[in-house]
Amino acid sequence: MIDPQEDGRARDALCVTALEAAAYTVPTDAPEGDGTLAWDRTTMVVVHARAGGRVGTGWTWAPAAAAAVVDELLSPVVLGRDALAPAAAQEAMLRAVRNAGRGGLVAMAVSAVDIALWDLGARLLDLPLPRWWGDAARPVPVYGSGGFTTYDDDHLRSQLRGWLALGLGAVKIKVGESWGRCERRDLERTALVRDLAAESTEVFVDANGAYSPGQARRVGRDLDALGVTWFEEPVSSEDLPGLGSVRAAVDADVAAGEYGDDPAAFARLLPVVDCLQVDVTRCGGYTGWRQATALAAAHGVDVSGHCAPYLSLPVAAVTPRLRHLEWFHDHVRIVRELVEGYAEPVGGTLTAPDGPGHGLRLRTAPAERYRVA
Ligand SMILES: [Mg+2]
Repeated sequence: MIDPQEDGRARDALCVTALEAAAYTVPTDAPEGDGTLAWDRTTMVVVHARAGGRVGTGWTWAPAAAAAVVDELLSPVVLGRDALAPAAAQEAMLRAVRNAGRGGLVAMAVSAVDIALWDLGARLLDLPLPRWWGDAARPVPVYGSGGFTTYDDDHLRSQLRGWLALGLGAVKIKVGESWGRCERRDLERTALVRDLAAESTEVFVDANGAYSPGQARRVGRDLDALGVTWFEEPVSSEDLPGLGSVRAAVDADVAAGEYGDDPAAFARLLPVVDCLQVDVTRCGGYTGWRQATALAAAHGVDVSGHCAPYLSLPVAAVTPRLRHLEWFHDHVRIVRELVEGYAEPVGGTLTAPDGPGHGLRLRTAPAERYRVA
C-alpha cells in the first residue's frame, strides 16, 4: 500500500525545484585575437539546477544576456519537471523558445541548462555521467589551443613550451590575421611552431573564416608544405561550397562546426568537412552533442570537441569517432581558477572523473569578484 504523503514527497524529490543563472566576466591574461575578432574578456554564464537536495551545474561561454534567457524563457518550462528526464526538458525548452529563435544566444542558454540537468540527474542517481549513458569512459586526447595573432613570437614560444611539457599530441594557433591580410606572417608563425614542436606533435591552424576560398586554397598549399594537418574554418563556415573547394585542394583536414546549434546545421556541414567540431556549450548541451555526434558517425565523419574541454569530457569519453578535445587557453585558465574538479592532462589525455555527474562545481567564493549578473 502506497502512503500518498510519502509518494508525494518521493515525487517532489525528483522534480526540479530551482534553476539559477549567474554570469561572470573574467579579463584575459593578455590581449587576444584571431583572424576575424579581438577580445580582452570572457564571460561564463553558469546555471545551477536543484532537486532532492542535490545541485547540478552547467555553463556556457556566452554574453551575460544568456542568463536572462534562462530566467525568462527556460525556467518556466523546466521547474517542476522530472529531474531524471533531461532530454524531455530539452524538448520542452526548444518548444518554448520558438518565437525567440532556437539558435545563437538562446542555444547557449539551452546548452547550459541541459548540462546542469544531466549533472543533476546523475548526482541524484549517484552515477558518473558515462555510466548513466550506459558506457565505460575512455581517456580523451586533448590538443593545446591558443596561439593568438596578438601574441609576439616570445609569447607564442612560451605558450607552446607549456603545452609540449604536458605531452599534448597536437597544438593549434590562429592564422588569417586581419581578415587574411597578413599571409606571410601567418606562414612565418606556423613555421615557428613547426620548428619548435616535437616531430611527433601535430600542428593545427584555425583561420576563423578569414580567408577567401581562392586565398585559402593557396595558403593551404603552403601550410601543407609546412606539414600542417588541420585547417580549421579556412573560409566562413556559412560558405559550404568554399569549404568543399578548400577540402578538395589541400592535404590538411578541413574542420568546422563550432557555431552549430541544431542538428540541421551539422547535417549541412558534414559533406564538406573531414572532422566535425561540436561545441557542447552551444549545440544544446549533452543532448545536442549526442545528436550531432551520432549524425557524424552515421556519415562516417570524425568529431572533435570545440573549446569547453572539461564540460565536454564525460560525453566525449563515450563518443564514437572522437578525435580530441580542444584544451583552449581562455577556458582552461578560467576553469583552473574557478572550478572544483579541474585536473591537468596526463600524457596528453584527460580522464572523466569517477564521481557522480560530470564532477565539476563552480567555486562561488573566488568567482564572486567576476560576477556581472
Ligand atoms: Mg575555431
